[in-house]
Amino acid sequence: IKWTEGRGWHDAELVPYAPLSIDPANMTLHYAQTIFEGLKAYRQPDGTVATFRPQANAERFQASARRMAMPELPTELFIEACDALIKQDSAWVPNSGEASLYLRPFMFASEVGLGVRPANEFLFMVIASPAGAYFPGGVKPVSVWLSEEYVRAVKGGTGAAKTGGNYAASLVAQAQAASHGCDQVVWLDAVEHRWIEEMGGMNLYFVYGDRIVTPELTGSLLPGITRDSLLTIARDLGYTAEEGRISTEDWKRDNENGTLTEVFACGTAAVITPVGSVKSERANWTQGDGEPGEVTMKLRKALLDLQTGHRADTHGWMHPLG
Ligand code: PMP
Repeated sequence: IKWTEGRGWHDAELVPYAPLSIDPANMTLHYAQTIFEGLKAYRQPDGTVATFRPQANAERFQASARRMAMPELPTELFIEACDALIKQDSAWVPNSGEASLYLRPFMFASEVGLGVRPANEFLFMVIASPAGAYFPGGVKPVSVWLSEEYVRAVKGGTGAAKTGGNYAASLVAQAQAASHGCDQVVWLDAVEHRWIEEMGGMNLYFVYGDRIVTPELTGSLLPGITRDSLLTIARDLGYTAEEGRISTEDWKRDNENGTLTEVFACGTAAVITPVGSVKSERANWTQGDGEPGEVTMKLRKALLDLQTGHRADTHGWMHPLG
């Protein structure tokens, strides 16, 4: 779907997957006016297909667009585009368990120009790819690196938007995490470098017995849809679920004194991933016994059961293909 100043959204079309021809002066290549989303379609027990909370993705896409001086795509058009792509060949939505069809809606400036200003032409597209189970051999805890050198986002910045630049700025810290033998980077706040914000591509939850706490939305972390869903599902399962502030010292101390029983990360790709160990320049510890915890696995099962149609969708989160 195209957007042009003065004309709005126009010319929606379904075309075969193919490379785009990009002008060297395309504004996105220089100024990164680009946003994206990620969501999944799951096969349901009766053979139909449903996407998980596309309305929430559409709304976050609109919030990202506002922050990046881009036009807002109406929710109906966002959902219709995803549905149209899936319907093109719904046989490519996998049939088994956790496997899904991953959808990647995105928008970028399609105008050509070298001046720094908001573009007047944009292209919105959706591409898709089947995604297998994230942990085909069973859920395996990840190791994380606390990034004290780099920051992902600052107050007033673009941290709450799902825009390419945030990820580009993350790559060096992700490489640093890998060089310390860690799977993922954990971002801290930009001012004091001690408050936990989120992981490279997932939000975090801290489990204190039957109370789960996730870092509050400070404006510099992504408001994850899995994060939001878990606040509700955890309450459905009888846990106390809240947003709060957790520092690196809290994490280390509460793990040592046993009150912090589990830590997990959550996002569309992996749904829920246990955190097994933590490293930084100054510290190195095993989270709990390093194994996936009971609450983590219970929440993971509840959310996946809901997405795959094996648990009642009491919140109206599943969007069936019409
Ligand atoms: N934080 C970041 C930086 C992410 O890229 C993602 C993945 N979209 C998340 C959190 C989790 O968000 P969601 O649950 O909507 O996938």
